[in-house]
Amino acid sequence: MQIIKAKVMGYCTGVKLAINKAEAALREGPVYSLGALIHNKAEMERLKLLGLKVINANEVPPAGATAMVRAHGLHPQKRQELLAAGVTLIDATCPFVLNNQHTLQSYNTNGYFAIIIGQKEHAEITALVGFSHNYVVISTVTEAEQLVTLAPKIVVMAQTTFDKTNYEHIKEVLANRYTLEAPPSICPAPLSRLKALEELSPLAEALVIIGDKDSANSLTLCNKALSLNKNSFLVEKESDFDKIFLKNYHTIGLAASASSPSWLINNLELFLQED
Ligand code: SF4
Repeated sequence: MQIIKAKVMGYCTGVKLAINKAEAALREGPVYSLGALIHNKAEMERLKLLGLKVINANEVPPAGATAMVRAHGLHPQKRQELLAAGVTLIDATCPFVLNNQHTLQSYNTNGYFAIIIGQKEHAEITALVGFSHNYVVISTVTEAEQLVTLAPKIVVMAQTTFDKTNYEHIKEVLANRYTLEAPPSICPAPLSRLKALEELSPLAEALVIIGDKDSANSLTLCNKALSLNKNSFLVEKESDFDKIFLKNYHTIGLAASASSPSWLINNLELFLQED
């Protein structure tokens, strides 16, 4: 069996930075994470063994504790609440997310109404909305069609990982109704993994996507793989291979989501080669 790897796979810049910061902080002592630091169970288990304590995103760690601000960022009020409670923060907000926060804040200062395209409950959006006083969050074309605003100045921004095609549709509907500004706000990392998968697909009889079943970017990658090749499988651990008859294929294309650690990719690749 020949294994062909996607040209771009695994951790994006933001996740890599967050993991590096967590590992450095854990060398000094226990660290709290306000929700899962990344959407990968195997990596979260490894970090927990190093001393990472995962609590609910709404909870406040005890005074004197150290806590990570995740790659998704943090609502400014929540940041103040944590600092006032005596918690030391290690900021692992992804540079792309940070850039969007600063951009939105700047538009807000200049009197713009913000239409934010993203999932209302997503941690990145619950943090981002803290940088505007005048906004609405939408995620569908229907919501864009039904939106009513008399705001003279409008800016449209997206969740960094929002589906680009869907975003363009929603933006087009809004642009037909309003004059608006739309600074770049979608992160290139998931797009580059999708493009690498497209290039890989014709070279392989089956596609194996390494990623967590609870991770949105893994599911997006897997759905893309299925649209390219029906012999596509999402795998998060060795036992997932039990149900897949990969021996039927001579060439396997291997891709991995932006929240899949390299150690896991290497382990699963070795397992595939040995099988
Ligand atoms: S996908 Fe993009 S925005 Fe999200 S953490 Fe990775 S680099 Fe940052």
